[in-house]
Amino acid sequence: MFLPQEVIRQKREGHKLSEADISAFIQGVTNNTVSEGQVGALAMAIYFQGMEMDERIALTKAMRDSGIVMSWESEGLKGPVVDKHSTGGVGDVVSLMLGPMLAACGGYVPMISGRGLGHTGGTLDKLDSIPGYQTSVDETQFRKVVKETGVAIVSQTGELAPADKRIYGIRDVTATVESIDLITASILAKKLAEGLDSLVMDVKVGSGAFMPTYEASRELAESIAKVATGAGVKTTVLLTDMSQCLASSAGNAVEVAEAVRFLTGEHRTPRLLEVTMALGAELLVSSNLAPDLDMARNKLMACLDDGRAANVFGRMVAGLGGPEDFVQRYDHYLPKANVIKPVMAEKSGYVAEVDARQMGLAVVAMGGGRRTPTDKLDYSVGLTGVCALGQDIAEGEALVVVHAGSEAAWEEAARMVREAVILSDKRPETLPTVYERITGE
Ligand code: URA
Repeated sequence: MFLPQEVIRQKREGHKLSEADISAFIQGVTNNTVSEGQVGALAMAIYFQGMEMDERIALTKAMRDSGIVMSWESEGLKGPVVDKHSTGGVGDVVSLMLGPMLAACGGYVPMISGRGLGHTGGTLDKLDSIPGYQTSVDETQFRKVVKETGVAIVSQTGELAPADKRIYGIRDVTATVESIDLITASILAKKLAEGLDSLVMDVKVGSGAFMPTYEASRELAESIAKVATGAGVKTTVLLTDMSQCLASSAGNAVEVAEAVRFLTGEHRTPRLLEVTMALGAELLVSSNLAPDLDMARNKLMACLDDGRAANVFGRMVAGLGGPEDFVQRYDHYLPKANVIKPVMAEKSGYVAEVDARQMGLAVVAMGGGRRTPTDKLDYSVGLTGVCALGQDIAEGEALVVVHAGSEAAWEEAARMVREAVILSDKRPETLPTVYERITGE
């Protein structure tokens, strides 16, 4: 007989849970026969006692199977089903370019994304700044856009990994978010329900990252690679730098504008290009769309240079309800802030340190992110022309351009940005953009 309290007791005492117990517990979470208190108690027991790798795999599979698991076999797709996921950051707009680039290289990308969390931006919030774009669609339209354009970026539907939705809500209010076991299962349950052949994960490291230290990020990266591979999806994880804003902008509409300019070749921030290419190359190789990383990079660059990736992005936007000519006229469609002014450096020096978390919080403070889950966003606000680590700045030169809704909001964000950027007489050491590559094998 399955008794939730016995499963909780087992874990509390540090014992290993069986696959059958994990599966029964998650079924109980999904059909509400396990109470909120019991979910919180098990989460806390897991937080303290941890799980072995096969327990994590069982938990991930049970959560994946709590709702629909998509299958693409009947669609007759002409390529592999692939996706990318990031633990989140500031100015991390990679998905908006990489999804279309992968599709232009022959992959199919059913990307289920999230909203902003804390100081980090969310892909769905960015896409919501495009007039008409529907992030919330039914499965039929999701499938149609993936099949016809190769990529659709939409929100999680209730039917996809519903156990995670309930567990995450409870973890959020029981101080049990920060568990590698639970984070692994939560992220992967949703991704694996997309019915993928291959996945690439971007685990962030640095001042704007979700995990507090390099070691913790590395531990999460290893866990994700092993569990995803153990659950049957080829997965590579890259540990990448989040010690500064990844793009030259942070916010919603401003990041969409940067994504379009990246795709059309008008402007490509070097560190953003490097991370996008590194992740894309891994995925093209693991899904057999390219024989090696060099060939994969050439393929990705070619689809940027000949406009195919930009074209796919435009067709995805139109397919999900946005304007037909969005790529050509993005500047006309995206909302603009009332006050757009640069923040000047008060002294000269090299940009030695950037508190990326604080930069993200400046965007939240202006209304570009949520303080409470029901907050309405101001899509127009954000930062552009964000200075880069190591950049030599003269006194009176712009550190960033702040886009705010009012003079008062501009002043507050400018103060936060000045605090976040540390100028020094010494040029700082250059940090790698990609630190490590981890596979599950
Ligand atoms: N993102 C998720 O989807 N789940 C977690 O547990 C943490 C971050």
